[in-house]
Formats: sequence, structure tokens, C-alpha cells
Amino acid sequence: MGVKNLKGIVIQGDAAFLLPENRKYPDLFQDVHSRVTRTDMMSKYHNFGTAINVALLNELKSLPCRNLQQTHEPDIAGITGERFAEETLLRNGACSGCPVGCIHIGFVREKYATENQYLYRQVSYDHEPVFAAGSMLGVAQAFKVLTLIDACEKMGLDVMSTGVALAWATEAFEKGIIGVKETLMPLKMGDANAFRQAIFNLGAGLNDFYRLLGQGTLKAAEHYGGADFACVLGQEMAGYATGEVFFVSQALGLRHSHLDTGGYAYDQKAEDKNVEKTVAFLVKDEQDRVFLTSMVACLFARSIYSDALLSECLHSVGYCFPNVFIPWAMMDWRIISGRRHGTSKSFDGRPAWLRVSIRGPSRYRNDFQR
Ligand code: SF4
Repeated sequence: MGVKNLKGIVIQGDAAFLLPENRKYPDLFQDVHSRVTRTDMMSKYHNFGTAINVALLNELKSLPCRNLQQTHEPDIAGITGERFAEETLLRNGACSGCPVGCIHIGFVREKYATENQYLYRQVSYDHEPVFAAGSMLGVAQAFKVLTLIDACEKMGLDVMSTGVALAWATEAFEKGIIGVKETLMPLKMGDANAFRQAIFNLGAGLNDFYRLLGQGTLKAAEHYGGADFACVLGQEMAGYATGEVFFVSQALGLRHSHLDTGGYAYDQKAEDKNVEKTVAFLVKDEQDRVFLTSMVACLFARSIYSDALLSECLHSVGYCFPNVFIPWAMMDWRIISGRRHGTSKSFDGRPAWLRVSIRGPSRYRNDFQR
């Protein structure tokens, strides 16, 4: 899409979907609705939102901090999901028709006149933007993080890519690889005012350095040096430093990769280091997620929508395929996701694996502090 300069696709339906005239659909709807709203499976999303993960990952020493020079931030209390809820939360929002409402919207205010005149803006936050504009940049105050997220949104920048790019630029500045000539002011971990200005410079493409950085962290690193500490594997990293399975899933995935597979969760749960089992997990998990997404279900509800429940849902609206419907559908997705994973089909239809070579920063392997 990017190559074609296409920013998005809007699909607008113009027909109604008629439900079968029986009780199956309304009964099943009630059942699914009460699983979503009355059990505790989704309550963390409604209560604190995904920002609840900030403290948990920090506790596990798995939160990328200060350009991944650390995976634990001692001052994390200022940017946990709990702190955002206590101090900055205005309201919850929800995607159309969703009874969970995991979207958390905080506020920033700005004094625009000497006599206590303020304007305020609403800013939504999640784990990923909090990591990118917070721990990754050493910024540990909730309102400052919201100010940086707000600046990215004003400039039309992706918050995760921007945070990771500025984290690299800050380390490059500290190492003397780049200087004020490039950044236009000193960059220092934790200095939210400097980052806010840098975000405006980046969005406006104010000089050669910011124009290059705007094309991606690696573009700038290729030119100035410092690729070895650019936290990029395909795309700027997501907010997990759980271990090798996440890093592999990041290297192979799209959409900042953490939505394609639960590699980060596998790192935390798997006790052995069995490569075959891990690859089988990554492929199967992606198939499940692709299928769930194509059903227009939310990935946060993946623990609710088992294969059996999805099959029941399809039956209730008249898709009376035999029970093998879901595995069959997944077969098709397996071909697609196999291509994504550098595989292709051989003549007898079995996947033929191709070797994929990916270079990443050395601190992904072992040199960050735990
Ligand atoms: S659909 Fe998913 S992302 Fe949207 S509000 Fe509901 S739980 Fe959150």
C-alpha cells in the first residue's frame, strides 16, 4: 500500500445481512456477550487497558527502556496503567458495537495565557504508545508521555516508530555519532521537552537528518552509523523484550509484529527451548490470528473465540458447513502465512522452507541488562 501511496481503504456496506429465523443466533449472542462482559476474561482491558502491561513487563525485566539499553526502569511508577488511570484518565471509548471499551483516553493541558488560561486535548493511550513515548525514551511521567503521543498525532507520525527512532537518535547523540548540527538541539534520555521539539522537526522534515530519519531508523543509521543499536527488525520494535521468540516474530511479522503472533507470551510461558515446538507455535498462532481477524473479531477476545465457538457462530448465521469448515479455511491461510514466513509450496503441495537471513541489533541477543 505504501508503495502505491495508498493511506487506507474504506469499505462501506450497502446491504443488510438477514439472520435466520430461529433462536440459535440470539441465544448464542447472549452467551458470547455475557462471556465478554460478565466473566473476568476481558476485565483488564476495560479496567486499565493494555497499559496495565507496563508494570508487569517491567517487573519481568522485559520492558524495552532507553533504546533497549535496559529492560527495567526503576522509576516506572510514573507511567504504569494504574498511574495513567489515577491521574490522566478522562473516559473509556470502544470500537463500534464493542461492550468492552478498552480504549483509554487521557488529557493534556497547556497554558496559553499568563492568567491561568488553559486549553486541553484528549489523547488515547495504550501499552505500545506508552512504551514508545515513555520507557524507550526514559520519560517516566504520565502527562509528559501523553504530550509526546499528542505531538506525534498532530504531525501524523506513527508513535511506535517515532519513539524507537528518537531513542536511536538519542543514543547516537550520546555516543557522538551525530551532534546538534543534525538534531538541532541536544537529545537526552528523559528530556521530554527536547523530544517534543524533535517530533515536530521529524514531522516537518526540517533538515537532511530528520528527513532521513523520517524514512526509518535504519535509513538514518546506514548513513550516520549506529545500525547495531537501531532497534529495528523490519519495523521499529514493539514494546516487548521478552526474549528470542518475540524477536523472531518481530523479524517475520507485519503490523509491528506483536499482533501477528503471541511470541512475547510464548517467551514467558515456554519452559524448554525446543525450536521445532516454537516454530510450530508461531505458524499455528498466526493462522489462528489471521482467521480470527478475517472474522472481524477483536484479537483481545481471542481467549473467548475458540475454534469450537467460532464454528458455532458460523452455524448460527446459516453457514452450515461440516465441522471441518474452520480447518479447511485455515489451509488457505497456511499457504499465505507460509509465504510470509519465507516458505513456498513444492510441487507435491507440501511447504518447502526457504532460508531467510535477517540482521538485527546485537543487544537483541544478549547485551541488555536483566
Ligand atoms: S473491539 Fe477490541 S480494541 Fe475495540 S474496544 Fe473492544 S476490546 Fe478494545
